[in-house]
Amino acid sequence: MAPRCDEALSSGRPAGQAAPGRDGSHFADQGPGKHNVGSRSGAGSDKATDPGIRLGRTFRLRLDSGAIRVLSSVIVLALGCEAASAQLSTRALADRPATVVAPHDPASPEVFGGSEEFKMVPLGAGIYAAIRTEPLGLAADCNAVFIVDDDAVIVVDTTSGSARAEIAALKRITTKPVRYVINTHWHDDHILGNQLYKQTYPGVKFIAQTHTRDRIATRTSEERLAMRTQLPRFVSALEERLTSGQSLAGTPLSTEERLSYESDIRMAKRFLFSLAEANTLVPEIAVDSALTIYDGRRVIELRYLGRSHTDGDLAIYLPEEQIAITGDIVAAPIPYVGANQSYVTEWPATLARLLEWHAKTLVPGHGPILHDDAYPRLMTRLFTIVTEQVQASVSLHRSLDDTRKNIHLEGIEDSFVGNSAVRRVIFENNIVYAAVGAAYRELSVAK
Ligand SMILES: [Zn+2]
Repeated sequence: MAPRCDEALSSGRPAGQAAPGRDGSHFADQGPGKHNVGSRSGAGSDKATDPGIRLGRTFRLRLDSGAIRVLSSVIVLALGCEAASAQLSTRALADRPATVVAPHDPASPEVFGGSEEFKMVPLGAGIYAAIRTEPLGLAADCNAVFIVDDDAVIVVDTTSGSARAEIAALKRITTKPVRYVINTHWHDDHILGNQLYKQTYPGVKFIAQTHTRDRIATRTSEERLAMRTQLPRFVSALEERLTSGQSLAGTPLSTEERLSYESDIRMAKRFLFSLAEANTLVPEIAVDSALTIYDGRRVIELRYLGRSHTDGDLAIYLPEEQIAITGDIVAAPIPYVGANQSYVTEWPATLARLLEWHAKTLVPGHGPILHDDAYPRLMTRLFTIVTEQVQASVSLHRSLDDTRKNIHLEGIEDSFVGNSAVRRVIFENNIVYAAVGAAYRELSVAK
């Protein structure tokens, strides 16, 4: 997920500006203190002066200041600190019939090992995906993949809080050592577990895209420092909500929200625990655009397909098995976007290159295994719409705040959100706040 937290989290950036996120785990982000969640305007006061967002819907919910603090930390986990947002606004969920297109629960019948946090799903021919099983929430940990070859194992992504459990699950499958770990990008929800792999398999080498390697070398320590401060706040804020029975939207806590908050708390605690025992490991092998590993009979293609979630996302393709491992180029049910670090305008082209593989199985960075291209195409539509609207807004010299207020995603939002209150908050954060912010940044520079 997201990389840095410095601006928003530690310097009190004005509300409305994204803090750089962390890369590892995904949480919704906001600065620590004062952000108006209920409003898309920028003023950073606990009493949001909500100017009213025209959403084509009558209802809108306003998050209170406590919610704002929670979300800020949240984003932190998800995108490293920057990710997402400083201001969230969430809309009422009332009367929303919804065609839910975006995938939700991992649904694979076979489980090998696994734990309460993930299940090991065999993809055939010695390949296993560790798919997260937590309820969707503000925090997220990543899927991982294990490729067992003739004499060694290749791992894709190491999670932020489940590396120990995943190594144990892997050992139930094979006694072969891990030879390579591929980190799809630099966010801690994908790399924090590297340390445990190094301890368990001293001969392991880490591989990442060149930009990702640079960011791990230069930003990871700073991000982790910020997380040590932010995460405990995130945990207490959610615990407060569970005690008070009030959701982040100020409504009575639903079962969905309760399960989600409880899961977020567990995940944040695991993250903190892992943080305490992690050093920064800079990958030994950097991939500029392409690297192919021929390991026995297996061919493993590592490709840099262009910028999207970050500027250094690696995708992996197994041509024989027709399996694509996408990192956060694809994340479901709602994409993870960092306002200061993602490339929304370029994301559709990157997805198009990914789909040229015509993979039969896609393992996304988050969310269930996909067997067709419907969801990546939905993501493409979303980012295309955001790009078009932000382009028009930039042409009119509108501010970023005004751009966010005037964005209209009603036609596609339900495909991601359906009737879920939890998803709606995440959509507001990741898309209305962060994706619009990213596109605005890109298009303003391009101008
Ligand atoms: Zn990420």
